[in-house]
Amino acid sequence: MKFDRNTIALTLIISSVVLVVLGVTLGSLYQTAINQQKQRLEEFVRGQAQLIGAVARFDAEYSYADVAGGAFGATVGQVIDAFAGYRELGETGELLLARRVDDHVSLLLRSRATDSDPSTLPLSSPLGALLAEVIDGRSGTGVVVDLDEVEVLAAFAPVPELGLGLLAKIHLDELRYPFVVAGAISTASTVVLIFLGAALSGRVISPLQRRLRESQTNIDTFFESPTEGMFLLSDGVYAGCNAHLGEILGCDREELLGKSPLEFSPETQPDGRSSLDAGMAHFTKMLAHGPQYLFWQHRRSDGRPVDTYISLREVTLEGQSLILGTVHDVTRLRETEAELSKASRQIEEQRDHLAHVGRLSLLGEMTASIAHEINQPLTAISNYTQAALRMAQRDGKHTEALSDALRKSAEQVQRAAEVIRRLRGFVRKDEGVRERVDLNDVVRDVSKLAEVDARHHGIQIELGLSEEVLAVSADPIQLQQVLLNLVRNAMEAMEETDEVTVSIETGEQAGRVYARVKDRGVGLSKVEERVFEPFFTTKDTGLGMGLAISKSIAEEHHGRLECEPNPDGGAIFVLTLPLASQYDDSQLGVPR
Ligand code: ADP
Repeated sequence: MKFDRNTIALTLIISSVVLVVLGVTLGSLYQTAINQQKQRLEEFVRGQAQLIGAVARFDAEYSYADVAGGAFGATVGQVIDAFAGYRELGETGELLLARRVDDHVSLLLRSRATDSDPSTLPLSSPLGALLAEVIDGRSGTGVVVDLDEVEVLAAFAPVPELGLGLLAKIHLDELRYPFVVAGAISTASTVVLIFLGAALSGRVISPLQRRLRESQTNIDTFFESPTEGMFLLSDGVYAGCNAHLGEILGCDREELLGKSPLEFSPETQPDGRSSLDAGMAHFTKMLAHGPQYLFWQHRRSDGRPVDTYISLREVTLEGQSLILGTVHDVTRLRETEAELSKASRQIEEQRDHLAHVGRLSLLGEMTASIAHEINQPLTAISNYTQAALRMAQRDGKHTEALSDALRKSAEQVQRAAEVIRRLRGFVRKDEGVRERVDLNDVVRDVSKLAEVDARHHGIQIELGLSEEVLAVSADPIQLQQVLLNLVRNAMEAMEETDEVTVSIETGEQAGRVYARVKDRGVGLSKVEERVFEPFFTTKDTGLGMGLAISKSIAEEHHGRLECEPNPDGGAIFVLTLPLASQYDDSQLGVPR
């Protein structure tokens, strides 16, 4: 049979307690027995001493002179006759009658004496010394060491009539013996009984304990779910919870115990109700209608919100009504939901942008044909103006003023035709080509294209062009598109400021050419990281595609488009391209 440590400890404790109680009981019984024995001995000795005294007085008065030893001898003789072989004091009990003789004590009577027993005692022996004191008049009881070194209980009284001392003694061992036997028997039987009881209870209790442990383990496993927080509420505070709830709420399980769930909830729930009101409403509903499943926002100990789904049910444990709750952390799920809906909103927006881009490209194509259409009447007007001028000169009817007006009309018509030509070029949808072009020329074209817009914005375009030819191998229309976009952005960035100048500088550096568009507008402080992202715009009507397209055009030309803040305020955009001589000249003028 196997005892577990608890059973052994319990058995030892019970045994110790029982043995101590037994010891104390036997001890006090023993003490009582000794006291009674003392009293009995004392009464006996005192009675006998008085009796002997009375006999002595009688003998002194009436004894015959012929008795050996006289009256004293007569009395002592009677006493010896009466008590020789006296056995009434128990197994070891003995009666002594002693007389003092010089430096020793002479024993006149030893009721149990054998021949080998001494009949005198030296005063130096404890018994001899005591008897001497008794002869001198001392009476009472005490424990004294006998001649054979054994402890005895003694009662003694003097017989003053004869100058003798009477002492009755009995071995303490004899008095102790029944108690030692009783102690041994009861100790042995107690220990046996306790161990029997332990073994028996082990038989009965062990299976119960095992079942209890198993069910406790099951409860623990259930409670220690790694995926759900679990808690028991009693009187509105956490009476128990698992470690996972601690993880969800960002603290140790122990920190939760004794606290209210409200301490781990924000003031208000996302539906606008105070956490207190919402909590009370859920509990009331649960008590009335059974288990509840609900969304609850917790607040972690670090202050962060945690979205959870909770189930609440009422349970009864050891007669006490409690609330059992399971908690699922759904924060990640809700974040993903939010991210998904944000992404789908962005897709919507981009779809709108694309539709807009589509409309613009349609407009571009229409612009090309409109420009073509307008070119016809412009050519006609130009012809008519020339003809009118010639006719006026030939008929001699012309006045200087008329000629001047007609010449100016012809010039303006030319100018309009030039604008239309550039516009057509700009919006045509050719395959990209690579031509050897001077970047300075591209910039000049762009400044002319932007002229109308610039006037409209009240802005001046200042050119700082390199005097060298900056030959690049490029599609001039695409380069125009990049630079025109930069200039228009620059002008729009200055709309809210008092600045009026956009400057374009060109130059060459380390085998590369650059065009730098500089403005003193709102600058790039918040947007620098994002300006090249497709569809990134800060403008109400912007598309956010200009810089993204420009950058990819620059890269297709083995160049770069970069931006940096203007130290004087505003922004600088720099288009850098390789010099044509460094690039494959054989491709010049060849469609890609
Ligand atoms: P859009 O002009 O349609 O907004 P862009 O791609 O050309 O698209 O520009 C994207 C964004 O970059 C602009 O909305 C603006 O916020 C910023 N940006 C472009 N150029 C400048 C500039 N010169 N100064 C300040 N911000 C600029």
